Amino acid sequence: MKSFRKELWFNVPTRRAFINITPQVEECLRESGVHEGLALVNAMHITASVFINDDESGLHHDYEVWLEKLAPHEPVSQYRHNGYEDNADAHLKRQVMGREVVVAVTDGKLDFGTWEQIFYGEFDGGRKKRVLVKIIGS
Ligand code: ZN
Repeated sequence: MKSFRKELWFNVPTRRAFINITPQVEECLRESGVHEGLALVNAMHITASVFINDDESGLHHDYEVWLEKLAPHEPVSQYRHNGYEDNADAHLKRQVMGREVVVAVTDGKLDFGTWEQIFYGEFDGGRKKRVLVKIIGS
């Protein structure tokens, strides 16, 4: 069995963003040499997400609006967590959007459904953060 591990680094200048990281994960898969197996991709921070959905700008706008309704950034005084920081909303947004995805690897490719792409969701940007890619198989 082969095992591959790599960290992808991001430094998003804005507080929030959605980044399509499918090309980076596909590059990891090529590097791994795995043809049949599983690929795990997870955010290594509690204020960022990795999720799968459509790469469509209208949908990304809708996520932004929806998440701001669920957990508005301001006023930061509404959150107890913000006694220490100003990013309680980012923790909550990450919880909704998820920590990780697992994608089947079939015949050397990510075995996606139609329109599926992998995204990094940043909810508290302006600093360096990591995503872990772990690929196992043969
Ligand atoms: Zn925090």
